[in-house]
Amino acid sequence: MEFIELGKTGEKIPVLGMGTWQIDANPLEGMEAMRLGFDNGMKLVDTAEYYKNEEFVGKAIGDRKDIFVATKVYSNHYHHDDLIKACNDSLSRLGIKTIDLYQLHWPQDKTGYKPPRKETMGAMEELVAQGKIRHIGVSNFSIDQLEEAMSVMEQNRIVSNQVEYSLMVREIENGLFDFCKKEKITIIAYKPLGFGSIPKEQSSKLYSLLSEIGRRYSKTPVQVALNWVISRGNICAIPKAASKEHVLENVGASDFKLSSNDRDMLNGFEA
Ligand code: NAP
Repeated sequence: MEFIELGKTGEKIPVLGMGTWQIDANPLEGMEAMRLGFDNGMKLVDTAEYYKNEEFVGKAIGDRKDIFVATKVYSNHYHHDDLIKACNDSLSRLGIKTIDLYQLHWPQDKTGYKPPRKETMGAMEELVAQGKIRHIGVSNFSIDQLEEAMSVMEQNRIVSNQVEYSLMVREIENGLFDFCKKEKITIIAYKPLGFGSIPKEQSSKLYSLLSEIGRRYSKTPVQVALNWVISRGNICAIPKAASKEHVLENVGASDFKLSSNDRDMLNGFEA
C-alpha cells in the first residue's frame, strides 16, 4: 500500500481506505470484508454518525491499534454542546478513546441553515485540546466554505476535505483540487467507483477504455479507475466494498503507476 501525508501533519495515511456506508447491510459479509481490508493494508476506515454503523465499524476494529479512524458529525449537531455530545456518542459507539479524523459532514443542514462557523470550529478545536479527536476535517466544502472555516480557527488547521471524485464526477478539477493542494488539505475521494456504476456498466465506453489500459499493467478496470483517482497526489480514495473479492481487487489498485499517455486518455474521457 502507498501512503501520503495527511494535510501538513507529517503523518502518513494509506492512499486507499475503506468506505463503510451501508457496509453493514449484510453484517457477516461486511464484517469479514472490513477485516480483510485492514489485514491487507487498507488501514483507514471512514464512517459517520449519519451511517448509523459506528458500533459495527468499532466491532470490526476490535482491539487493533493500527487503524486510522475517520468519522463525521452530521450538520444538525454543529452548535457547540450538540457537537461535543455527538463526538462523545461516536467515541462510545466506536469503542475508542480518540477519533483520528473528525469531519463536518456537510457545510450546512438540509434547510441551508448553519450555526455561526466560529462556534462550530471552536467546538472542534476544543475536542482536539481535550484529546478526543486528533485532526479536524470537513466534507463537501467549497473553496469559500473552506476559507471561511479556516479563518475562524485559532490553534489547528483543516487537514482534509472529503468530496466526491471519480472518472464520472470530476467537479473538483474546477479549482477545488488545486486550492486544496496549495493549502495542503488532503482530498478524501468518496464514490471513487461512481457508487459502483463504473464496474457495473461493463458495456460502457469507459469500461472498455479501462479494460484496454488495464491489460497493459495486468490490472482490472476497477484497479485502473481507482489508480487514476489517487494518481494526482494529495488524494486518498475510500471505495466501499462488502464483498471479499472486491476488497482484494481494490487493495491491488495502488501498486502501479499509469503512464502519462494512459492518464491523458482517461483525463480526456467525458462521462
Ligand atoms: P463507491 O465506493 O464508489 O461504490 C461502492 C459500490 O461499488 C458498492 O456497490 C460495491 O459493491 C462496489 N464495488 C466496490 N469495489 C468493487 C469492485 N472491486 N468490483 C466491483 N464492484 C465494486 O461508492 P460509495 O460507497 O457511495 O462511496 C464510498 C464511501 O465514501 C462510502 O462508503 C462512504 O464511506 C463515503 N461517502 C461519503 C459521502 C459524504 O458526503 N462525505 C457521501 C457518499 C459516500 P459491494 O459492496 O457489493 O462490494
